[in-house]
Amino acid sequence: MSTDKQIEIEHIKKEIEHLASSPLYPYRIENNYHSVIGEGSLDAKIVFVGEAPGKKEAETGKPFCGKSGKILDELLASTSLDRNTVYITNIVKDRPPENRDPTQEEIGLYGPFLDRQIEIIQPEIIATLGRFSMEYVLSRYGSEGRMVPIRKAHGHIFEVRVKYGNVKVIPLYHPAASIYNQKLKQTLFDDFQKIKTKNK
Ligand code: URA
Repeated sequence: MSTDKQIEIEHIKKEIEHLASSPLYPYRIENNYHSVIGEGSLDAKIVFVGEAPGKKEAETGKPFCGKSGKILDELLASTSLDRNTVYITNIVKDRPPENRDPTQEEIGLYGPFLDRQIEIIQPEIIATLGRFSMEYVLSRYGSEGRMVPIRKAHGHIFEVRVKYGNVKVIPLYHPAASIYNQKLKQTLFDDFQKIKTKNK
């Protein structure tokens, strides 16, 4: 892995850790939480983008290490993808109180860090997990005209143009949405197979 990429990601980490202008900053400090920047290979072909860290993630600084993470691990295992060969991150890098949805202000504030991560890693595929990351990524890369609700968009492939080239965006349901919904869980597993095909 190139150390230049590591250095750039390290810069992003430091900037986020000192982001005192964030509405989520005081909550992080009060609770001794960590920002969650992302984890995995900086040479990954696939980047997964979730919503925001939950409690466990904020306690450890690792993305998707709680209940949703367990499902994500099952999904990765079902396609023989290894956590170490993909990159996993979120749009919002600090935990919103009580796991509430991130606000537009928070998405606007943290989104540019995600853009920079994508430009550093240069994946061929961005798999969004949930509605918020789908909306952010598709509108960021000029596909908002083709945007449909996640119940229609999930599992489809959207070709977008990023500075470094063309990228496939595959919207997926958020793993948390499938915890109590077996049908949705099956859909998530079916959609995941498309990532496997595209990763060949
Ligand atoms: N949900 C997310 O969207 N991201 C995480 O890191 C954990 C749960």
